[in-house]
Amino acid sequence: NRRIRLASRPHGEPTAENFLHDTVEVPSPVPGQVLLRTRYVSLDPYVRGRMSDAKSYAAPMEVGDVIVGGTVSEVVDSAAEGFSVGDTVLSYGGWQEYSLEPAERLRRLDPSVAPVTTALGVLGMPGFTAYAGLLAIGKPQRGETVAVAAATGPVGSAVGQIAALHGARTIGIAGGEAKVARLRELGFDAALDHRAPDLPGRLAAAAPDGIDVYFENVGGAVWDAVLPQLNEFARVPVCGLAANYNATSLPEGPDRSGQLMGAVLSKSLTLRGFIQREFFPTLFEDFLRDMSGWVTSGQVQHTEDITEGLERAPEAFVAMLRGGNFGKAIVRVS
Ligand code: NDP
Repeated sequence: NRRIRLASRPHGEPTAENFLHDTVEVPSPVPGQVLLRTRYVSLDPYVRGRMSDAKSYAAPMEVGDVIVGGTVSEVVDSAAEGFSVGDTVLSYGGWQEYSLEPAERLRRLDPSVAPVTTALGVLGMPGFTAYAGLLAIGKPQRGETVAVAAATGPVGSAVGQIAALHGARTIGIAGGEAKVARLRELGFDAALDHRAPDLPGRLAAAAPDGIDVYFENVGGAVWDAVLPQLNEFARVPVCGLAANYNATSLPEGPDRSGQLMGAVLSKSLTLRGFIQREFFPTLFEDFLRDMSGWVTSGQVQHTEDITEGLERAPEAFVAMLRGGNFGKAIVRVS
């Protein structure tokens, strides 16, 4: 069983030294468990948080742990009722070739309904994050303007397309010209490159009626450009702060928290953080029904960026945090 474990905690951007590659014997299931062979591992930004020991909504990994991650796996041995050899399941096996899982933690996937990798992206946790955060917190209304960054990623691209289906005007923000071209294909009404000069000026021009919903995926300079454009009663689902995940210190410059709170007060803004699992009990069934329909009909498109080989997971992960991924970042293991 080839595995990749946390060798040491990164300071800033993770490096090869933070990952330990090793091989151990394949384990055997005890009653109630199944043995899974990993086919695909999902690379997600939250894993960077788990590599640190800072207090967060989920416990950090310990040094020595297999790196965590959602997986699409195949049952190769079963000691649990309801699962047989050959079944494909959504699991949480992490960065390794084989994993043991209790049956109750698995969700069976039907490869005839949708390609199984969609369970890690558009029909899985990232798609659900977009759906729940946008509809339960952002509440876009017909004719309103919705903006989102990391807009070619699995969360952002779903946010923009769901907002458009609800009659909103959409502004997508992404890094680089190729991603901006992709945003146009996805139907965003305006597409902006956050790496090109004068994002604040270009965003103001792209949002002549202001912004009613800003789905926050990144923070940093994008948030600075968005804040002045927010309309009275704008809603900001705070989903992620990808610009900060590798930061080792506060940004330079004056303390602008007073200005931020002034805008929250005077424009009656709603900033609402969330972790997607909050909405799992109430919205997951609706999400699966709606999103499956939109994906099947082509109303929601998605892109996957698949890296070949478990051993390349660390480099693909670090690249994803920097914006090197084009669509949902996935590693094909076997
Ligand atoms: P993505 O595949 O979109 O990858 C992250 C993207 O962040 C990069 O591709 C890059 O896109 C962008 N980015 C990185 N640094 C910067 C920067 N300095 N400025 C602007 N953009 C930057 O990831 P996901 O779709 O999986 O996740 C999107 C966000 O949602 C993340 O913040 C993640 O943590 C969060 N999330 C939150 C959940 C929750 O429950 N709250 C659940 C799932 C995800 P580009 O090249 O376009 O700049």
